[in-house]
Amino acid sequence: MIKYGELTTKKDNRSFFIKKLVSNIKNILKDFDFEIKYDRVRMYIFADNKYIDKIALKLSKVFGIHGIVICHKVNNNTDEIKEKVVEILKETNFNTFKVETKRADKSFEIHTMDFNNIIGSLVLKNFSCKVDVHNPDIILHIEIRVDGTYIYTNEIKGKGGYPVGIQGKGLLMLSGGIDSPVAGYLALKRGVDLECLYFESPPHTSLEAKNKVIKLASIINEYSGNIRVHIVPFTKLQETIYKMVPPNYMITIMRRMMYRISERYAKKIKCEILVNGESIGQVASQTITSMSVINEVTNMPVVRPVACLDKLEIINIAEQINTYETSILPYEDCCTIFVPKHPIINPKLDKCLEYEKRFDYDALIEECIDNIEVVKDLSFNKFEDLL
Ligand code: ATP
Ligand code: MG
Repeated sequence: MIKYGELTTKKDNRSFFIKKLVSNIKNILKDFDFEIKYDRVRMYIFADNKYIDKIALKLSKVFGIHGIVICHKVNNNTDEIKEKVVEILKETNFNTFKVETKRADKSFEIHTMDFNNIIGSLVLKNFSCKVDVHNPDIILHIEIRVDGTYIYTNEIKGKGGYPVGIQGKGLLMLSGGIDSPVAGYLALKRGVDLECLYFESPPHTSLEAKNKVIKLASIINEYSGNIRVHIVPFTKLQETIYKMVPPNYMITIMRRMMYRISERYAKKIKCEILVNGESIGQVASQTITSMSVINEVTNMPVVRPVACLDKLEIINIAEQINTYETSILPYEDCCTIFVPKHPIINPKLDKCLEYEKRFDYDALIEECIDNIEVVKDLSFNKFEDLL
């Protein structure tokens, strides 16, 4: 049984949200045999017992789900319910318990309080335990509905958030670092579906660096299922910047070029926003003066989910979502090659414009976009052995 997340508060959009959640669940569980039923309050996934744990694990990564409950369904018949309760509790460790019956099917002849007592006595008789109504080890839930009785004990916490895709698409600037995969995860959590854009500069950056980014994308794809990685051949443009621009402005200009390419490509693949892993003050290009001068090249909204998080807070999330170990592998990114000794922390826009006049960046940008390579298949296991 699936309990919906925050979507239940958005009354008008509810059915749209639920339909999106259903299609995301179907997508994420496509390798399993299952049946799905839902109404405005709950969703049920019916599957063979042997897959249930694996399915629950997959569902624990689907945004829009508040809780997942592995429950057992029997007919609305007291003997069947009793038998199932004993069977379930034999597999459960507990010293104290409480029974909570919900009688949604009003034609069921026994009233809620009486039924709590019947089941409570049954449990006390069969197990060595006590009732504790305030702080029990387990709550035995019995929901008697028209279509059957659902019995369950523990709830697995869902991820919350909005179903991926209800907010349209964003283009994530994904590097091999720690911050951008976390930024992507946080955007997905708010319902933004993502495409990923990675700038590579071979031979200055390696195949391992590229594979690392694909691996990171495949990890966050566990929360989406639709992610593709678009790889920009950035070498020529980057080498031109290196030749034409004074060292202290190289990073600023390079990032302005990245933004220009990102915006143009985002429009081409129907993404409405850019998402990146910039964090205020983290490096010279992320002072707010730098951000403002860099951001000047685009009108597209740029969402920076980790802008106001400390590095340790970002690392914390990276560890939870399992990207950290991959992010810290030591392959060079195009941002870490050609790093000048003293990158400017308060760049001036007129200087940027002056330096950019020195070369035909528009043609180079077009060339980058024309030669983007798309990696479509991010099935997780495929990339296990890449690194
Ligand atoms: P991360 O921020 O992911 O840990 P980083 O710290 O090495 O990597 P920064 O130099 O801080 O990267 O760059 C800031 C942001 O710019 C990144 O979070 C990412 O969104 C984007 N970015 C940097 N390099 C690349 C790249 N090679 N391809 C795509 N996006 C990039
Ligand atoms: Mg960073």
